[in-house]
Amino acid sequence: MTAINLLDFDLEGLAAFCEQLGEKRFRATQLFRWIHQRGASDFEQMTDLAKSLRGKLAGVAQVQGLPVIAQHMSADGTIKWLFGVGDGNAVEAVFIPEDDRGTLCVSSQAGCAVGCRFCSTGHQGFSRNLSTGEIVAQLWFAEHFLRKHLGREDRVISNVVMMGMGEPLQNYSALVPALRTMLDDNAYGLSRRRVTVSTSGVVPMMDRLAQDCPVALAVSLHAPNDALRDDLVPLNRKYPIEELLAACKRYLAHAPRDFITFEYCMLDGVNDSDAHAQQLIEQVRRQDVSCKFNLIPFNPFPASGLLRSPAARVQAFARVLADSGIVTTVRKTRGDDIDAACGQLAGDVKDRTRAADRMAQRRTVMMQRADASANQPA
Ligand code: SF4
Repeated sequence: MTAINLLDFDLEGLAAFCEQLGEKRFRATQLFRWIHQRGASDFEQMTDLAKSLRGKLAGVAQVQGLPVIAQHMSADGTIKWLFGVGDGNAVEAVFIPEDDRGTLCVSSQAGCAVGCRFCSTGHQGFSRNLSTGEIVAQLWFAEHFLRKHLGREDRVISNVVMMGMGEPLQNYSALVPALRTMLDDNAYGLSRRRVTVSTSGVVPMMDRLAQDCPVALAVSLHAPNDALRDDLVPLNRKYPIEELLAACKRYLAHAPRDFITFEYCMLDGVNDSDAHAQQLIEQVRRQDVSCKFNLIPFNPFPASGLLRSPAARVQAFARVLADSGIVTTVRKTRGDDIDAACGQLAGDVKDRTRAADRMAQRRTVMMQRADASANQPA
């Protein structure tokens, strides 16, 4: 029997599991604290749990993190981990330290089915959804690694953004318990304002998230009109801008912040003119969506055929938005020296895996040929 991974449970799920073992629900709280607050994975360490419970758990459960395939530390303090999730797939998490916060960017899927043109993850295609345990394992590992690494006992990660690989709202059933674990005071105790789900615009799931677990919301907008967005973010063909902005407006009634963050990747000569900025202003005004814009310098990769907008163009675009009264920031590129752009490290590993596969296949063919010629009559 495969042992149940306790990282798959939010507190409610763990309490139900404890009841199945014939244990009181409060035992789940103790267990939850050991796992998430203290980073324990060995039941024998959990000394305030009855020996009998520890024995039961050892037979049926485990705390199973993800294997770290690579770890890169940038000179600016950014740390990127690549975690193996089986079958040659990998996902990444990135820690970004700032003066007043520590943010962890977390992945929700191996690959992504949305296929945005400017995203290297999108170009890899979709492999599979991560489980709740695999989403939480990124935070669990990073938090406890950082505490040890920095010699700290208090919490290091103050913010989580679901902006790594994948479209989180296309993995909804695994996402929600993971979010609940992040928010739980017996685990990471993050406030709703400090946990952000970033979506390319899965409208029905935005409405569900507003009901089930309303955390901060970021929307990958990237274009001011449907013709352009259909091309850059193919999901727009299903949920066009007007529907998306209407969903943003509905979400705001439940959101922990009084604005939606619009992410906008700046692509040279594609979506970065002053006229595009004006169109954006008209769009959000028409639907009266309270928002901020976060402009993202594009990280070019060969298959995209796209280029990064010059810094002066980004600044001019930001000015048009700001002059209309919309708070606009330009994302600092962090960890450039470790290739910390979204999807890049995982893409690199996947390419290497593919290259290794190709070489292995070539070796096999050569060996088969050699065998075949050895079997030929002289
Ligand atoms: S930007 Fe996000 S939604 Fe679009 S392909 Fe990349 S990971 Fe998927």
